[in-house]
Amino acid sequence: MKIVRVEAMALRIPVGFEQLGVDHKETAALTYVAVETDSGLIGHGITGITQASPVAEAINTVLGPSVMGLDPLLHERLWHIMNWIATPWAQSGYASHAISAIDLALWDIKGQAFGEPVWRLIGGARNKVPVYATCGFSFLDDDQLVEAVRRVVAMGFAGIKMQVGRPGRDERKSHPPVEEIIRRDAARIARIREALGPDLEIAVDAGVRLDLPAARKLCQTIEQYDIAFFEEPILQNDVLLLAQLRRETTIPITAGQNEGLAYRFRDMLMAGAVDIVQPNVIITGGMTQCLRVAGMAAAFNTMISNGGGAPHYNMHLQAGVQNGTAVEWQFNSATACEVIFPDAPTHKDGALVMTDAAGFGLVPDSDVLKSLAA
Ligand SMILES: [Mg+2]
Repeated sequence: MKIVRVEAMALRIPVGFEQLGVDHKETAALTYVAVETDSGLIGHGITGITQASPVAEAINTVLGPSVMGLDPLLHERLWHIMNWIATPWAQSGYASHAISAIDLALWDIKGQAFGEPVWRLIGGARNKVPVYATCGFSFLDDDQLVEAVRRVVAMGFAGIKMQVGRPGRDERKSHPPVEEIIRRDAARIARIREALGPDLEIAVDAGVRLDLPAARKLCQTIEQYDIAFFEEPILQNDVLLLAQLRRETTIPITAGQNEGLAYRFRDMLMAGAVDIVQPNVIITGGMTQCLRVAGMAAAFNTMISNGGGAPHYNMHLQAGVQNGTAVEWQFNSATACEVIFPDAPTHKDGALVMTDAAGFGLVPDSDVLKSLAA
């Protein structure tokens, strides 16, 4: 089998948040890639949480041509070809997104070629994965936040994640001081805990926007509310500062959704910086590299989980490997995938049930893709 076409599209996908009870609209930027073979199979991959156009350009002009004519089943060989072309001096950035999207399309082809879903190809550890909802968006006012959480609990989710530290150290000039932001975060968490009771799992995510003093202060204030985990509290996922924070707080620390290089996870694990690592298949070098990270974490007796959304791809990693745990249902990212993949599986009773559909089981609506081209 040979690759005969690699084609990426930058997409702008309108996303509404009616399910959370608010009239708020955003545009999700996503890069979609199709990899076609001479046998007629087409693999579908995506990447996101970055600008879509430069990634599509990198795929169409650099990485696509580098794998043209090669056997799509040789995912290690192709990954290394792409890695040495896109990141020859150990850069990461857009290159990691572009490699991820193509790598996922290759795994989709592999699944179709063998008539197996990806989660079974990589090990089939479980056929159902728990899913938690990221619904605590910073654009919600306090009343809207409580209403949004009530709604996701009614949908069957047992756990929620709330954005904190937004804006944090990223936009200091035009916004309130970070101390004021984290005071407000703590008050909102207290309100959710009070309104929803002790059983709801509440996690928080600063999206690498706090320095150590601010993250420490927030931990000290919210530890009393039984926080499930604190995701990416520290600027740049600074490994030494994460380790320092983890020594100081009882709240479990997680990180890794936007990392491009596997050794970053080694350093987190070696330094005792995290309780759970969060490689994301649409960003962290695709399924090929996330399997390396999952294996490395397993050797540290450490679990992996999904941050950064894209549940329909990440559910395969979390279901496939022994140390997989939960998938994130981020309403922006999940809704964007539902728009382009009309048959995408959905959550029920706080879980995603794996299917026997070959590959990732995701086929885009081509008319929808065209209408959303950026
Ligand atoms: Mg996150």
